[in-house]
Amino acid sequence: MFLPDFCWKSRSPWLVDNSYRMTTDTAPLSEVKAPTQAATGIIDLRSDTVTKPTAAMRAAMASAEVGDDVYGEDPTINRLEARAAEIFGREAAIFVPTGSMGNQIAIRLHTQHGQEVVAESRSHILDWEMAMVAAFSGCQIRPVPAERGILTWAHIEPAIAGKIYYRAQTGLISLENTHNMAGGTVTPLAVMQEIWAGAKAAGLPVHLDGARVFNAATALGVDVAELTRGFDTVNFCLSKGLCAPVGSMLVGSRELIARARSVRKALGGGMRQAGILAAAGLIALEEMPARLGEDHANARLLAEAIAFAPGVEIDLEAVQTNIVIFKLAKGGDAAALVTRLKHRGILAGSVGPHAVRFVTHRDVDRAACEVAARIAVEEISQK
Ligand SMILES: *Cc1c(COP(=O)(O)O)cnc(C)c1O
Repeated sequence: MFLPDFCWKSRSPWLVDNSYRMTTDTAPLSEVKAPTQAATGIIDLRSDTVTKPTAAMRAAMASAEVGDDVYGEDPTINRLEARAAEIFGREAAIFVPTGSMGNQIAIRLHTQHGQEVVAESRSHILDWEMAMVAAFSGCQIRPVPAERGILTWAHIEPAIAGKIYYRAQTGLISLENTHNMAGGTVTPLAVMQEIWAGAKAAGLPVHLDGARVFNAATALGVDVAELTRGFDTVNFCLSKGLCAPVGSMLVGSRELIARARSVRKALGGGMRQAGILAAAGLIALEEMPARLGEDHANARLLAEAIAFAPGVEIDLEAVQTNIVIFKLAKGGDAAALVTRLKHRGILAGSVGPHAVRFVTHRDVDRAACEVAARIAVEEISQK
């Protein structure tokens, strides 16, 4: 139905061009050493997605009570969904294998084919979700650039299509908090409150891509329920800084989440004894948000050290959570720097030709961040 031809052709655009990979150094990690910091001294700051499940998670997974979740019979999944709904002050929640699937289910729920989704110009739903807003929901994104990725109602209102028959109508507003590609920046509560009020007056639903919403809540010192109250749906990841091995959650009204179950099944996301994953997810949800402040402090340490290196452009005020993005001035080659860092045991990612990204997380402690900062400054200084 919606799947375009190239899905079946051998020369799929998904296979031929690697230039969009965030980590542009694609040589296998095995060339460096085995990929764990503890065993080898490798410090992996490519993303918080690399976190491994904790010992408590592995124990809980081993003894998880399970059933067939397509039949609604997995008690651990049911507990995780009930608990996520409770923590976010919502009627219901659904476990999904990835954040991308959670976002795409939400977009499908809120929109009709031929509509527009207003989103920030570097948002994950635009750059990293395989054009599924078009391919699956039949919508296009109306991208709106905003400084530090922070959309305000003043940005959004003019991007909403006028109610006239010859314009594609806006079906949804989607925010991202924290904003990944803007460097983990945080949209404050008051800014979102104005957006919720404006959207309500315009009769438009609002979705939050809250992959790292617990990082935003930590940075603001605001509870996630309060921080997300005005969104119709919220997607968040258990698998990033919260350290679960797999999974995200979509929360919303009972009616929306009931429809989300059908859409998830249509996407092949109906899982069976998924309680194995939910057992880790419950620990992620209950215990891991409290330690995110450590990751934020480590990101700050890295950012402040790198700011002293020659030829680095970094917006220190944009380093608000666990992501550090800096630019190499005078056309400095980010991919080459990432490769040099890798040969010294520091894994990072490049974001475009001149920018490098570090993401801090539980599996890289403060001492390791100090080492990474020192080596990064040395390598940047080597021009
Ligand atoms: C990681 C991330 C997602 C989801 O990614 P998956 O790899 O599909 O789980 C969604 N939005 C943002 C902003 C993210 O950083």
